[in-house]
Amino acid sequence: MKLKNERCTGCEACVSRCPFGAVEMEADEKGFFYPKILEEKCTECGLCERICPIEKPLGRGKFTQEVYSCWVRDSKLRLESTSGGMFTALAEYVLKEGGAVFGAAFDEGFCVEHICMENRKELKKARGAKYVQSRTKDAFQKAEELLKQGRKVLYTGTPCQIDGLYAYLGKEYDELLTVDLICHGVPSPVVFQSYLKEIREKYKAEITSVRFRYKKPSWSLYSMKIDFQGRKPYICSKFKDPYLRGVGKNLFQREVCFSCKYASTKRVGDLTIADSWRYRAYERESRNDQKGVSLVIVNSPKGKQAFGKIRNGLFVKKQSIEYAVDGNPGLKAPWPKHPSSEAFYRDFLAGKSWSELGRTYFPYHPPGVKERCLRFAENYGHMVPLPVIRFLKGIQNRKV
Ligand SMILES: Cc1cc2nc3c(=O)[nH]c(=O)nc-3n(C[C@H](O)[C@H](O)[C@H](O)COP(=O)(O)OP(=O)(O)OC[C@H]3O[C@@H](n4cnc5c(N)ncnc54)[C@H](O)[C@@H]3O)c2cc1C
Repeated sequence: MKLKNERCTGCEACVSRCPFGAVEMEADEKGFFYPKILEEKCTECGLCERICPIEKPLGRGKFTQEVYSCWVRDSKLRLESTSGGMFTALAEYVLKEGGAVFGAAFDEGFCVEHICMENRKELKKARGAKYVQSRTKDAFQKAEELLKQGRKVLYTGTPCQIDGLYAYLGKEYDELLTVDLICHGVPSPVVFQSYLKEIREKYKAEITSVRFRYKKPSWSLYSMKIDFQGRKPYICSKFKDPYLRGVGKNLFQREVCFSCKYASTKRVGDLTIADSWRYRAYERESRNDQKGVSLVIVNSPKGKQAFGKIRNGLFVKKQSIEYAVDGNPGLKAPWPKHPSSEAFYRDFLAGKSWSELGRTYFPYHPPGVKERCLRFAENYGHMVPLPVIRFLKGIQNRKV
């Protein structure tokens, strides 16, 4: 028995479902986990191949999707979240109903894995996007156990993980609510660990927390923030930090992400959450003050019901699906692989340091005057009075 790995997303449905424990995950040299059959345990029943969701067509029942830009009214929570705090709003609703929440969290070594959370305090572990592939481990099994007990379950993750969960469960559960993310592709755990190792060595201190989307100076112009024991944190703009630059340039995402079948408006989750990137400061009517704006796509009646329950605690503006696609290209097509991705890996595996890799693959060029002006406008545009914006837009329209 041999699983075809080229299109594998690493959702772990096959490992979780094998009744003989005959499939395990094994990392390849780029650090991504793939299933491996343990011949001595395998009975060749073929279940692992049959449940794999990757070649199955996408699409749920007929439902007219609804799209919103929104954020939680609690400013502190909004700042702690990646976008507008939709994950926590939904998670708190499910916990209040006696349910459990699944999301991606760091373990002690800053590896990312899905965990089950049963109280509000724990939610901070999953808060914040981690730009590293998360391992499923036993999360599907735990979710199934809770669903069989009749408990509500909120499962959040990348679309391939949500599709993997449905494939694993093999049947509909009324109490299951799923939330997928619009995903840029999942970066390599090994590359991330080597970046952290170099940071530890450079600053000679133990790392206590990592935030990939620290909202300084703002939500859209975010920074990497790494806290240490006993020293000042490392804070570096997304334009300068080598890891964030590599993620943005698609240098070290999983191979299948570059042909991702989920990069589409056909969604697997009951709800889709993301950044509402088209939402810009000039939409002053809704005062985007750069604390973060979520995009929510409601994909099913269950999603609609859940969104209805949390709506009161949110600022909400209705949008269209075209608006969503315009701001989030990941709804239209996968991000392309960087032409130097393989060369990057060759140098990385040969042991080149991050400063060397940085010089070759993500050199920093200070922004020119135009770019500085654009960034300034992005951060502070909401402060410009509406009549001035209308006047400027009028001039622009006359020129066109
Ligand atoms: C790898 C990755 C790529 C992304 N790419 C895009 C993109 O291209 N465009 C876009 O608009 N949005 C993207 N997002 C989503 C976005 O960054 C936010 O995570 C999302 O909007 C939720 O924000 P929030 O404020 O509601 O929640 P937060 O409180 O910040 O919650 C984060 C949520 O993301 C989940 N999560 C965090 N890390 C991972 C991970 N490694 N794997 C699976 N789930 C994870 C958590 O379980 C939780 O549900 C991406 C997220 C990830 C993890």
